Amino acid sequence: MCSIEEDVAKKLHVSEDKKCCKCKTSRSTILIRHNELCKECFVYQMYSKYKTIVTKCNVTKNVLIAFSGGFCSRAMVHLSMKPYREDPARRKMLDFTMCFVDDRFINDFDDASEDMYKELATMSKAQFCDYAKSCFNLKDDEIKAFLINNPYLYQSVIRRIIVEKAKEASCSFALFGDSATKTAANILANVSDGRGFSLPLDTGISDPSEQNLMIVRPMSDHIEKEISLYCHFEGLKPSEYFVKDSSTNTHSLTMNFIRGLDKDFPSTVSTVVRTGLKVTTGIINSTNPCCKFCGRKRQGNDSEWSKAITIASISKEAVENSHTDGDVCFGCIRMKK
Ligand SMILES: [Zn+2]
Ligand SMILES: [Zn+2]
Repeated sequence: MCSIEEDVAKKLHVSEDKKCCKCKTSRSTILIRHNELCKECFVYQMYSKYKTIVTKCNVTKNVLIAFSGGFCSRAMVHLSMKPYREDPARRKMLDFTMCFVDDRFINDFDDASEDMYKELATMSKAQFCDYAKSCFNLKDDEIKAFLINNPYLYQSVIRRIIVEKAKEASCSFALFGDSATKTAANILANVSDGRGFSLPLDTGISDPSEQNLMIVRPMSDHIEKEISLYCHFEGLKPSEYFVKDSSTNTHSLTMNFIRGLDKDFPSTVSTVVRTGLKVTTGIINSTNPCCKFCGRKRQGNDSEWSKAITIASISKEAVENSHTDGDVCFGCIRMKK
């Protein structure tokens, strides 16, 4: 049993004497964030949190949904379709575009459900590899190790592809299924990688940095455990290759750290996310040029920042060489070492 399934089993219980804290009438069947809830109130709460964010960001029509096949994006698609499922008349107005980027070569996936992905894929595996190689000027045998060791750039490639596809399809909004748990891990990992300047765009509920396209993260108030419970109730199953993640890069380690801490201290994720949302860095209104690797606006003086924290006595020559890139952001300069 994987850890997410174990969590689902732990959160499900039938309490004989306790009532749901929302409706006060049904028997409680779920314990989440110290709240006793019945299934109906839990499902309604999931939709209401989703709706709050899409309403706040004015998501209306011409919407592209970034679908990865994992728990979060499956739940996001299901929540997005809720009004259309319940009202047959509205089904005619359904105008979502789905985008699946086939990046499975990173995980050595054995292509067990190849046919399903072929149907869905907006960007095939081969195209994804070529695109990623051209972004970073890499050779065939370098690409996999490079992307595994640099998860931020890996996510940047996925984001760039989805943004391109959304613009091609004339979409005004792109929905990304980042959960609150992932957002919390990204906040800590990005700051530790020296990418604090782009934090408001990478981890906020919306990313307005693209012209004519707003990136929205409607699952950013849902923790992983809630999403896995929702998927359990609605019979949604993730693709096999999402279940295991044995990478040892900063992002994976931070994710495991956050998950571990959240088990005993259920306020961990919301505390980190709410603190991260308060960070303002000026990147939204910045007119600085973009980094040639990650595509984010540079803070300026990136090389100077890098020099200031480098222990120059290790190798003066290496330090000099590492600061020569004038069009790379601080996080990417550090990554290259
Ligand atoms: Zn209830
Ligand atoms: Zn960069």
